[in-house]
Amino acid sequence: MDFNVQYDVAVVGGGIAGVAAAIQSARSGKKTVLIEKTILLGGLATSGLIYVYLPLCDGNGHQTTFGICEELIHNSLIYGPGDIPENWRNEKNAPELKRFICRFSPASFMLSMEELLLDAGVDLWLDTLACAVETKDAKMTAVIVENESGRGRIKARCFIDASGSSILARRAGVPCLPEDNFLSLWAIMYALGKESELGQNLAFEIHTGAALSTPGTIWLRKDLSEKLFPEARTDQELLEMLTYRGLSGKKVSRFVQDTHRLLRESLKIEYASGRSDRTRYFPLKLPLMPQFRKTYCIDGDYVLADNQNNRHFEDSIGMLPDWRKSGPVWEIPFRTLYTRRMGGLLAAGRCTAASGDAWEITRVIPSAAMTGQVAGLAAAMSIDQGKEPWELDISDLQNRLRKLGFKLHLGEIDL
Ligand SMILES: Cc1cc2nc3c(=O)[nH]c(=O)nc-3n(C[C@H](O)[C@H](O)[C@H](O)COP(=O)(O)OP(=O)(O)OC[C@H]3O[C@@H](n4cnc5c(N)ncnc54)[C@H](O)[C@@H]3O)c2cc1C
Repeated sequence: MDFNVQYDVAVVGGGIAGVAAAIQSARSGKKTVLIEKTILLGGLATSGLIYVYLPLCDGNGHQTTFGICEELIHNSLIYGPGDIPENWRNEKNAPELKRFICRFSPASFMLSMEELLLDAGVDLWLDTLACAVETKDAKMTAVIVENESGRGRIKARCFIDASGSSILARRAGVPCLPEDNFLSLWAIMYALGKESELGQNLAFEIHTGAALSTPGTIWLRKDLSEKLFPEARTDQELLEMLTYRGLSGKKVSRFVQDTHRLLRESLKIEYASGRSDRTRYFPLKLPLMPQFRKTYCIDGDYVLADNQNNRHFEDSIGMLPDWRKSGPVWEIPFRTLYTRRMGGLLAAGRCTAASGDAWEITRVIPSAAMTGQVAGLAAAMSIDQGKEPWELDISDLQNRLRKLGFKLHLGEIDL
């Protein structure tokens, strides 16, 4: 090793989840490091060029999500344009039905988030890749990183996996659950100007006869699919190409190249049509991260599943709305943030345990901010009390969250 350092809490991944986790851990008095493989903060939300902070309310006037999640939505507008509906700027439970949502400039948000982390006293290790872990007796003890200084060991008393794809958990051999990405196909269709062909309900059919009808999978008509991937020789190859799972290095690389190819094609079509020329219509910036929403999450002590909205969980650590429609609200169990198979480790954001429709609900910016903050607080409590996350007194954790402004159960927001 070229270097060895020690922290209380090591957070891997500087996306929204990692940012919220690191801020909360540092505010709880813990010496905290945030390790990010790029040089920019915000992950998919900024480097992935997502610019919509999805809602913190249920669409019927009830605010569902609080704490750093709310702080960050305002923070995103400090150095740039954006809009939060008027009433939500000043009130809780705004009577208007416009959702508590905001658009932001990714670059502006990167700047303001970094300032917030530095103000909280977090050590930022940018351009640093977490590439391996060390464990002892089923407990995580160190993360091995690589950067300009070489390869080094970062020891900590608690680790937070906010890598978006459960990289810490997987490197430690913890079982994880994979999932598909229909939004990736969506992006491709937009790039080709074929969004209208996606239809209202995202229900597409690929006539290969293969059984792929899992919920959340988008189907693409075979004639369109063939246009997208002319090199596919068989239906099975076509299907393979359409399922952008982002679960292997090769597939991630191919997905990125395919999207770039399709973007080039759409530009050629635009120029050939005479509608635009390259001095007025050109790509200004490309996403710096592959746009996979769903890759791997931990197989947690509890896995949030389909149709569990408007359900009471005794160990709820906060609530999330359904960003697709008004009404449903989901309580999120603390058990989705850890697995007893590995001590000293908490999951945040896209790494938290979900299946089926719960992937949709929990793979958004508010969810990343909320679970990140909870992981940061739970990590600090675990260290103070010398306990594993699952040994924490849940009412103690919940009371501390309430002091931070959280509401945890449906009844607390009159639902
Ligand atoms: C196409 C698309 C559209 C979306 N639209 C919206 C939307 O409109 N609104 C919305 O709210 N949400 C949207 N989402 C989802 C949302 O962007 C994500 O759920 C959320 O930003 C995830 O945050 P995260 O912190 O959990 O993970 P990520 O944003 O993935 O952050 C993970 C971070 O970890 C870093 N990292 C990974 N591996 C390592 C490593 N080994 N070492 C060091 N660092 C590492 C990455 O560089 C990254 O910065 C969309 C997602 C996609 C793909």
